[in-house]
Amino acid sequence: MFPSLTDKQQSTKCNPQNVPIAIIPTNTKLPNTALYNSMLWLFLHSSVLKEAQRYAVQCGSKTCGEAIPLLLQAKTDKCNFFCPKCGQDNQKRMQEARALTVKLVNMQVKKADNQENRVETLVLEKLALEARGLLHPTNFLYGLLLRDLHAALSAEGKKDRAFAYLQMALLPISVHVHPFESASTEALSEIIHYHMEKGQVNEASEALTKLVRRLKIVPGEDSEVFEEYHGLLMDCRKSIKNI
Ligand SMILES: [Zn+2]
Repeated sequence: MFPSLTDKQQSTKCNPQNVPIAIIPTNTKLPNTALYNSMLWLFLHSSVLKEAQRYAVQCGSKTCGEAIPLLLQAKTDKCNFFCPKCGQDNQKRMQEARALTVKLVNMQVKKADNQENRVETLVLEKLALEARGLLHPTNFLYGLLLRDLHAALSAEGKKDRAFAYLQMALLPISVHVHPFESASTEALSEIIHYHMEKGQVNEASEALTKLVRRLKIVPGEDSEVFEEYHGLLMDCRKSIKNI
């Protein structure tokens, strides 16, 4: 069997409840000091913009595909609907993306609260279809949705379809999740699991190399999980040599 990641690693799982929705504080009143005002404004807007980028919408122009930050309260600011790269008006897409984002956030919050343990695979697939091409491929909520789909399809034994969704989830995970966080190492572990089951030793070895490199640092070379995955990597390399 494949080794599981430690409790310590799992404790750092990304929690959707901690994910704020990007909102530009349109009625923020700034304090009096000019320097303080400028610094606070910069802080507020840079952190808000950073969050907004996590929920980016994909520009509707077929030749562009730019990631446009999702600003939930930008309804009155027409400028926010235009793509900064190609100038396309994305007003309708922004409205659709807002509605979808609210649905996805609610789903993740319910899941975290255990109000809804399992969303049906068909519902997840419908949401993924809605999100594809509308939300930018780096959108964090899209990544969480793809991960959920991977888990749901894996549980149903549909390994190949599950793996396709996992591969799509890798981009948003790599953009928004630190490589040492469990969400990231678990995704690598799933990839290794899939390739080893399929006997694809080259692909497994590639993913194992990445994971072992990370496990060497966190939780470290003395850990059981490092030893187990390192052992798997050595076995893989031996198999490749013998092919
Ligand atoms: Zn564009």
